[in-house]
Order: sequence, then structure tokens, then C-alpha cells
Amino acid sequence: MAHRSTEVLVIGGGSTGAGVLRDVAMRGFSSLLVERGDLATGTTGRFHGLLHSGGRYVVKDPKAAEECIHENRVLRRIAADCIEDTGGLFVTTPIDDPAYAEPFVEGCRATNIPVEEVPVSEALRMEPRLNPMISRAFAVPDGSVDSWKTVWACARSAKEYGGEVLPYHEVVRLLMDGSTVAGAVVSDGAGEETEIHADFVINAAGAWAGQIAAMAGSEVAVLPGKGIMIAMNHRLVNRCVNRCTMPSDGDIIVPIRTVSVIGTTDTKVADPDDWEITDHEIQEMFDAGENLVPGFRRARALRVWGGVRPLYQETAAADTRDVTRAHALLDHQARDGVERFLTITGGKFVTFRLMAQDTVDAMCRQLGVDRPCRTDQEPLPDSEEHRFYQPGDRLAKREETIHDDQLICECELIPRGRLEAAMRQRQTTDLDDLRRTVRLGMGPCQGGFCMYRATGILHALNGMPGSQANQSLLSFLQERWKGVQPILHGDQLRQARLDDWIFQGLLDVEHLPASVMDDGDAAEAPSDTERATT
Ligand SMILES: Cc1cc2nc3c(=O)[nH]c(=O)nc-3n(C[C@H](O)[C@H](O)[C@H](O)COP(=O)(O)OP(=O)(O)OC[C@H]3O[C@@H](n4cnc5c(N)ncnc54)[C@H](O)[C@@H]3O)c2cc1C
Repeated sequence: MAHRSTEVLVIGGGSTGAGVLRDVAMRGFSSLLVERGDLATGTTGRFHGLLHSGGRYVVKDPKAAEECIHENRVLRRIAADCIEDTGGLFVTTPIDDPAYAEPFVEGCRATNIPVEEVPVSEALRMEPRLNPMISRAFAVPDGSVDSWKTVWACARSAKEYGGEVLPYHEVVRLLMDGSTVAGAVVSDGAGEETEIHADFVINAAGAWAGQIAAMAGSEVAVLPGKGIMIAMNHRLVNRCVNRCTMPSDGDIIVPIRTVSVIGTTDTKVADPDDWEITDHEIQEMFDAGENLVPGFRRARALRVWGGVRPLYQETAAADTRDVTRAHALLDHQARDGVERFLTITGGKFVTFRLMAQDTVDAMCRQLGVDRPCRTDQEPLPDSEEHRFYQPGDRLAKREETIHDDQLICECELIPRGRLEAAMRQRQTTDLDDLRRTVRLGMGPCQGGFCMYRATGILHALNGMPGSQANQSLLSFLQERWKGVQPILHGDQLRQARLDDWIFQGLLDVEHLPASVMDDGDAAEAPSDTERATT
């Protein structure tokens, strides 16, 4: 077994873990983050994309609201490149209790969230597709945020300070020295295990934090709260639109780049890795969309996906909507007598930096060192100019190279140069890793036109064996299919049929030799790939 050591080991590569790694590294500790998949493939890569103003929680959960607005301001300062400053509206729709508007406004004032009532006629001018039957509208500083960009920017920043990331390494057990956590054993999934010795271990495994804590003999009740979202292929709204009501299902539409996303549900599940999306939930989201934007159902639905909230409560609540969205830092020394071990869970994406700060402050106290946090001061890489992302940015960039760079992904305007740079930088054979890096295949064709091109480039650029490239393509198609199949109708069904003709009819992908080994070891594609292409 291989061995390595570090001062601080961070478990979990979502926003919380990446935020902790950056903070620890900036305070001068040697640090290593381990993640069982790629960065941001847990809940962080499967969320709604709302940079909360906190308005959603002002009545029910003021502590969470205060955390959100505080961090909303900080992220605008340090992570501008990851944010689109869309603004947000809270609107009273015909199914909402008009009386909620008063406590909502009072709650915003009490939690220091800027709020301004907008005349309904003005709100409808700002958002022409909004339900014309709304009776009140309030503007708040919501925005939309790109979680992959944010997490990778944190990782890059941490790296500049000496921090390291080890993706595709799963913690299989913790190393215990009596009651002290002394590191972890990680597996790379191919049978190779590494023992990592650490002076301090931070558990940032989100909805899986209970599983990690159990390895140290601590009981941590994390309730996985499943939520689903559907991406529509247009910006049906240009601001984040929220129903002015107590948090409920399907009450927010977030415009993200070229699409808008309706969400979300909140259902308690037993296992964060074992849940499914039901047709009932999908229909519920479409109905909710109709209430906010009449005609919503007639728009083209691109895909559906879900994630699990890491909701922490010492005593299990019956309904996950009743659990606070504020974060929980568990000091296992004080709580269960387990030394050199902290768990950080709960919270929101928008509060990840604050969660990291609280955690690393607690670690410093335990270690008896005084090293102040600076993550709220220093901008993340690419955000130094404090310029928010603008929807036209990609087009403007594309126009600079329009005559001398091939376009690989028409939907997301990705030129070949950009894709090749990402392939070199990520050193990955996984097309889904590249999807998260450059948004490859995320538009209306869901990879139909760009993926065979990208596979060919990956094959040529990295000298990758053909069978391995085929396997990467098949895995990608399978993954995309999971999100497309449950909502297929109308134009998206026609698109899926066309994609099927390309991949099955023209390329016969199902029968290409596909293997993770070399060409000589090419094996038949697994039979469930049929699902990916039919
Ligand atoms: C449907 C939905 C919508 C949401 N919308 C919003 C929103 O709009 N705005 C907002 O601010 N928040 C939102 N949230 C909340 C937010 O997404 C989460 O609070 C946040 O992303 C959690 O981040 P995390 O890093 O704590 O967890 P995760 O992102 O889940 O990271 C934990 C990581 O630990 C890894 N891991 C697990 N076990 C192991 C192991 N044994 N070894 C190594 N690694 C392991 C996992 O693979 C995972 O990547 C939403 C949540 C859901 C479910």
C-alpha cells in the first residue's frame, strides 16, 4: 500500500470541501483533498444554480437568510466570474396567500436583505412571460452561479498555496490512533489503496458526512433531502423568479446561461446514492412552471436531474423542509471525544466559504494556532477584474476566432482551441469531466453533434487507444440519456431520434469495440449501453 502524509486531509470535493481546502492552504497548512469522483460531482454539481439573496428563508429560517445575504455579498466580491448578476423577483401568484408579502418584507428588513416593491406593470415589463395574474412583486439581489467554475477556481487557488486535490479516490476507512483520527485509507477504484496520514481530518462529505463520521465511531444524522430540477432550452425569464410564499416545491425559476431551470422538490430519502426521479415529480415541476410562466409546458424541456441536500439535524425531522438550511459544524472532540476531527455539513452552496471559514477557525483553535482567514478578501482566479459573467460573453469570444478556429459544440459555442486546452489541462479521458469544465454537450442537442467530434479530438490529442475513446463516448451518452429519457416529448423527442440516427445508424456505437484497456483488449460494450442510444 502506498503512503503519504499531510497536515490537513479534507474529505469531499464539493463546494464545502473545495472551500475548506482553499482556506486551509491560504493559512499556510499543507493540505490534501480526496474526492471519490471528479470535483463537484456530488450535490454541488447537481443543484439549482441560485445565488440566494436569502429572501427564500426570511420568514421560516432567518439564520439561514442572514448567512445567505452575507455570503452573497462576499461571493460577488471574490467570485464575480462565476456569477451572473441577474437580480431576482419574489412574486405573489394566484395560488399564493397575499398576506405572506408583509412578513416577507419585514423579514428581509430584519435580515438586512435589500428589498424593493416593484409595481406589477413594471415587473411584467421586466419579465414579459411572467404570469399576468401576479398581484405583487419584490426585487431582491438574487443571481445565478456556476458551481463547477467556482469549485475549480477554489481548487486552483488552493494549488497556488500548495494545496493538492486527489479526485477519483474514495475514503474506505479512517486511520484511528486510539480516539484520534490520524488519516484515511483511500481507494482509486482499480484496487490500489493509499494510506494518507494527517494531523487533522475535516469531513466535508455533504450528504455522505454521516457515513464518514461512522468510520470514526461518531453518529451524525444527515438527512438526505432529494430535489429534482428541469432545464428548459430558453431563458424564459431573465431574473431569478421566486414565488412569494413559504418555501415549497417548484417555486423558483433560475436563468442560467442560455437555459432556465425550474425546481425543486424536497423528499427525504434513506440513502444519498439510491433514489430515483418519478414521473409524478416531473409533472409537478411542469405544473409549477405553468403557474409562474403560462405556456411553460409548451417550451422544450432539455433534461431532468436531481441532487440530495445534506440537511443536518441532531434529532431526525419528519419533513426535510423543516430542517434548517443554516450550516452545522460538529466538533467531535467536544461532542464524542474523537480528536483531530471536524464535520462540516448542512448549509447552502452560497454559504460554502463561510462554512469553510468556521471550520478552519475551529481547527486552528484546537491546534492552538492563530492564523486568520483571508478567503473573503482575495478574489478567486479569473475573478480578479470583478466582472460578472454576461450572457453574450461566449459569443463575443467566439467572434474573435471565427475564421481560424473550428466550432466543436454549436449549442455552447466551444471552439476547438478551447476544448483542446481543457483536455490538456484536465488530463482526463472522461468526456463527462470535460462537459463540466467547458459545458460540452449541455445544449439542446445534448451532445448529438459535438460528442463524436470531441471523441475524435480526445483520441488524437492524447494518443488514447480507440477502444478507450469509444468507451468514453458510450459512458457520456449513457449519462446524458439518464436525464433526457424521463422528459422526452415534442421537439426534444425529435432531437433524441436524430441523435439516435447519428450514433446508432451512422456510427453504430453500440458495436464499437469499447474498453478501458488498450486496443488489443477491446471488449464488447456492456449491454446497458443500448439504453444510451435507443
Ligand atoms: C435540488 C437541490 C437544489 C439546490 N439548489 C441550491 C441553490 O440554488 N443554491 C444554493 O446555494 N444551494 C442549493 N442547494 C444546496 C447545495 O447544493 C448544497 O448545500 C451544497 O452543494 C453541498 O455541498 P457539499 O460540498 O457540502 O456537498 P457535495 O457537493 O455533495 O460534496 C460532498 C462530496 O463528498 C464526496 N464523497 C462522499 N463520500 C466520499 C468518500 N467516501 N470518499 C471521498 N469522497 C466522498 C461526494 O462524492 C461529494 O462530491 C441545492 C441542493 C439541492 C439538492
